Amino acid sequence: MAKPELPATPRVTEIERPKLALPKGRHKVLLHSCCAPCSGEVMEAMLASGIDYSIYFYNPNIHPKREYEIRKEENIRFAQAHGIDFIDADYDTDNWFERVKGMEWEPERGIRCTECFDMRFERTALYAAENGFDTITSSLGISRWKNMQQINDCGQRAAARYPELVYWTYNWRKGGGSARMIEISKREEFYQQEYCGCIYSLRDTNHHRRQNGREKIEIGVKFYGHDDLKQEENR
Ligand code: SF4
Repeated sequence: MAKPELPATPRVTEIERPKLALPKGRHKVLLHSCCAPCSGEVMEAMLASGIDYSIYFYNPNIHPKREYEIRKEENIRFAQAHGIDFIDADYDTDNWFERVKGMEWEPERGIRCTECFDMRFERTALYAAENGFDTITSSLGISRWKNMQQINDCGQRAAARYPELVYWTYNWRKGGGSARMIEISKREEFYQQEYCGCIYSLRDTNHHRRQNGREKIEIGVKFYGHDDLKQEENR
């Protein structure tokens, strides 16, 4: 995979953003991150508001392993450029497949996705509770492909297991967040994944592409800003 160059200086302060405030009485956030494009804006927005946070990368849903490694490495390089702690959690795919058994043909945003979010947030909440974080949140909801209410429900359900923990339901899309997500992805030339992540979303996206006369997905070849196509519409 061709590695894009890092920008000389992180440009967090060059972008105008709303000043964020954590839920009342909260100080330390564990951000569940699914990938660099989704978390780039979330990370910079929290940095610009002086919020103390670490990244938790727990995504055993991502298939195949090569795609998982690329998404993770992109997220690590961005975290390092900003001096943010990056916690690299398990790739326990057996547990993920066990958890979604019988839901292989469910559509995206359906009950398989609820299980998938629940699993990832439960582990995030456990790590947060055991390591002194009082708040969890996620980059998952910034994508327009996701159902924000579904994500918030899963996040709150996971946080409710621990009395001291809350799930921060901030809508990262608002205040220009969606546009900045694309802007940062192009600026950083992030790897651009073309399906949600699991083997079933890969299958279904390829099926959709075939029906529309398009080539199937090639892992590891597409980067934001490397062509003139309208990137967000390329899934
Ligand atoms: S489509 Fe995405 S959210 Fe749904 S189960 Fe697959 S990886 Fe998880």
